[in-house]
Amino acid sequence: MNTTDWPENLLALWQRLRLSPQLWQTRQLPWFAEGPVQPCYTDRFQRTQAMCAETWQAWQAMQDAAARDGIELEIISAYRSWAQQAAIWERKLAAGQAPEEILRWSAPPGLSEHHTGRALDLAAGEDAVLSPAFAESEACQWLRMHAARFGFHESYPSGNSSGFQPEPWHWCWQA
Ligand SMILES: [Zn+2]
Repeated sequence: MNTTDWPENLLALWQRLRLSPQLWQTRQLPWFAEGPVQPCYTDRFQRTQAMCAETWQAWQAMQDAAARDGIELEIISAYRSWAQQAAIWERKLAAGQAPEEILRWSAPPGLSEHHTGRALDLAAGEDAVLSPAFAESEACQWLRMHAARFGFHESYPSGNSSGFQPEPWHWCWQA
């Protein structure tokens, strides 16, 4: 598959960000279609978070199970549209970061699991929120032991084949 199979609006976003399709070919990252998602709840920053219905169900079951073990899991980020992901890139490019540097941490629009409505960035309390140190937390240990039971997997463990920095907070649901 090549980028000519991508939807027009995704190609337009890449052009606007001056991203070369070669970048995608070198890394061989899968691209993901958007949604379908529904608004599910309001987060600690009063933002409405959306995700796909099955992910919401699986999340609720997992959150309950974690709470019974004394772990208060919380969603920091769920669905992000291609356009929202492009806005993140635009901010970083405007701040002078090179695309190669941004790519270590953030997928370009179209290549992030967050578009699918199945990926969740998780935290527990105020410790190590969206930080590599989350890997050492009790919550992360719990997720590594139990999340698979609810259909969630850690997409980017250390040494992941996508070439992203480890993201121990990022969990994706799959049927
Ligand atoms: Zn994430």
